[in-house]
Amino acid sequence: MLRTLLVFLICTAALFASGPVYVVLWFDTEDYMEPAADDAALRIATDLEKLGVRATFKVVGEKARVLETRGRRDVIRALVHHDIGYHSNFHSIPPAPAVYLREMGWLDGAAEFERREAPGAADIRRIFGVTPSCYGQPGSSWGPQSYRALLRMGIPVYLDEGAQVALDEQPFWFGGMLHVFAMGRNLIRPSLNDENQLSQTFAQFDRSAGELEARGGGVISTYFHPTEFVTSAFWDLNFAKGANPERSQWRMPPRRTAEESERCYRILVRYVEHAMARPAVRFVTARELPGLYESALGRVPDRAAIARHMAERQTFLTTGESSLSAAEMLQILLGMEPQVVEGPVRRGATNFRESVISRPAFERAKADAAGFIKAGRRLPAEVWIADQTLSLADFAATLAADDGVASEVAVRKGNPEMERYITTDPSGTFNWPIHPDGFSAPSLLEIARLQAWTLKPARVK
Ligand SMILES: [Zn+2]
Repeated sequence: MLRTLLVFLICTAALFASGPVYVVLWFDTEDYMEPAADDAALRIATDLEKLGVRATFKVVGEKARVLETRGRRDVIRALVHHDIGYHSNFHSIPPAPAVYLREMGWLDGAAEFERREAPGAADIRRIFGVTPSCYGQPGSSWGPQSYRALLRMGIPVYLDEGAQVALDEQPFWFGGMLHVFAMGRNLIRPSLNDENQLSQTFAQFDRSAGELEARGGGVISTYFHPTEFVTSAFWDLNFAKGANPERSQWRMPPRRTAEESERCYRILVRYVEHAMARPAVRFVTARELPGLYESALGRVPDRAAIARHMAERQTFLTTGESSLSAAEMLQILLGMEPQVVEGPVRRGATNFRESVISRPAFERAKADAAGFIKAGRRLPAEVWIADQTLSLADFAATLAADDGVASEVAVRKGNPEMERYITTDPSGTFNWPIHPDGFSAPSLLEIARLQAWTLKPARVK
């Protein structure tokens, strides 16, 4: 009887087997002023290793160089047992990335980001012996041009928090990078200042994990800064509102007492232990993420389904078996093998005056668009009909609604619904004490809207 019951229980458990919950635990390792922050990183890395958990330490270039100068091989070795990401070259020394990217376009901005930030990633590689697995911006100093540069630097994952682009509080693809960003309810951060709040955080974690298990799996993102465990205010307030004091003038952040620090370490361990107790939970690093998410398109819907979707709205399409960006669907509609491409570098306009296009002219336009995409691995801003143009969105809608045989093709108006996933708040989303007062970056959001052709949810394998 007992055996029958046991078999029954095991079968029931298998029936309700739930999706994996991947917890990405990451530490922005950035304070290159307070030496105690080096010890904090070492302690955290050691505590987690004892628990059998690997975290991702996103290291600032200057922090890596400082660890080297201070002879902290012990810290470097301990962090290498975990995963190493990148968190910009100088973090808060002005100009921060959003500040220097704000007046730049897609290509020149990417080149400038690479010029300024690639040397720090090279130092990480030299000092830690690995290419950083991921990048995340300092503070809210985000800029979409970083994507193009990061991919050239061999960094495929964007791991951070922010509100400039958001998709369903789960990982997504954008600009060719796998993002863990804007995680909403799935961002869980225990307060280091109040151990009594932990039970509420545990409840929040369980709720989130339960929902993710029910929907087939997903990611919970949790982050800290090692410096938070030993200081009570951020080190980089030296650079508030764009200030740039000389090194000799830097003021050390206020220290926590030893007892306070012990409480912080205890809170982290208790949180990790709580998460580990849940069978579906697995702690993963940024380096593991691309292997856990589909990069292939999966079973693509037939052309007719894609055409129906794209004729109405230019945005990603997800089915049970695939996830397609508007850029991928545009390539499919053009008869191309879909590749990872960039969005257009600027917003094109329609100045084509007629309401219909002759079949031969439209076929030439299609071939021209396909040629442009193939040559530059980038979508065109507009498509030429002789010496007139259709904006990319209008062209996509027109192409999708075309039956491919009529002697004339009716021009349709585009509906770039994908742009909804980019915030319309150019000030609040860039709010950061380090940015100049009143900083606003609408042009960066406009570049992001153009790149939203590449946006789509990531699918758990
Ligand atoms: Zn930071």
